[in-house]
Amino acid sequence: MSNSQGGILYLVATPIGNLGDLSLRAVEILKKAGIIACEDTRHSRTLLDHYGISGALFPLHEHNENTAAARLIERLHRGESVALVSDAGTPLISDPGFPLVRLARAEGIKVVPIPGPCALITALCASGLPANRFSFEGFPPRKSTARKTLFETLRDDPRTLVFYESAHRVKETLRDFGAVFPPERRLAIARELTKRFETIEASTVGEAPGLLERNPEMGRGEFVLVLEGAATVQDVPAENELPAEQQRVLQLLLEECSVKTAVGLAVKITGARRDVLYRSALRLVREVNDTPP
Ligand code: SAM
Repeated sequence: MSNSQGGILYLVATPIGNLGDLSLRAVEILKKAGIIACEDTRHSRTLLDHYGISGALFPLHEHNENTAAARLIERLHRGESVALVSDAGTPLISDPGFPLVRLARAEGIKVVPIPGPCALITALCASGLPANRFSFEGFPPRKSTARKTLFETLRDDPRTLVFYESAHRVKETLRDFGAVFPPERRLAIARELTKRFETIEASTVGEAPGLLERNPEMGRGEFVLVLEGAATVQDVPAENELPAEQQRVLQLLLEECSVKTAVGLAVKITGARRDVLYRSALRLVREVNDTPP
């Protein structure tokens, strides 16, 4: 398979668990491609054997990405077509492939995506949380301090947040969610998607660590964590949620500081819930901005 300018680079999504999820078009492309670039040749061979696909495998993984990409580009220029797959799901999504695609596009090579399974989209759609605006954050940092620093930057983000996590770190990550995000924030724990023991558990930031402690099974497998975004001004109820004294404290603080600082101080002074104070602060700011001069 080639076009007049040279070969085509296909990006082929493969199953994230259930072998039946490989699309008909993916099978067709993998059968015809001269070269199948993959992370782990033994792993991909199992999938390919299942579909009777016998193409030549070319290793491309996080340790050889740049050299492998350069060699594949040469072969694409010579007219060979390459299908890139990863161990599971969509290539480039927390997986190798970006240097190859960047180089291919820079060199005018045709890049054709063959869409299919992706754990983040699968989890997001089934989470029961808003899927119209979301931010995919990949794997959080391994160290707790760096993780919490990242979470701090996301705490006021109104979009649904999607994270990948491994069984080794899921408990610590859930604990660090609890150190940064309000306990009532909703959270979906999607585990072993499309596999025999698939679970998509609706929980909250406050309850999730206990859920895993009580059910050791829940701590095994592969995870996508889908976290509700921060309350936005659209979510603010018309009626006043706060008692008058707390409202007064918040108002005074907002006259002197940013919303974030005012809410942080108001939590300490009043003991009221951060999310309630935050929503009220947004409403107070909106009222001030809406008042004609
Ligand atoms: N490229 C893949 C995709 O499109 O989803 C992701 C690859 S990344 C190296 C692997 C991570 O994706 C896992 O640690 C887990 O967080 C998530 N993941 C992959 N398959 C999953 C599944 N069946 N159930 C839940 N999470 C999964």
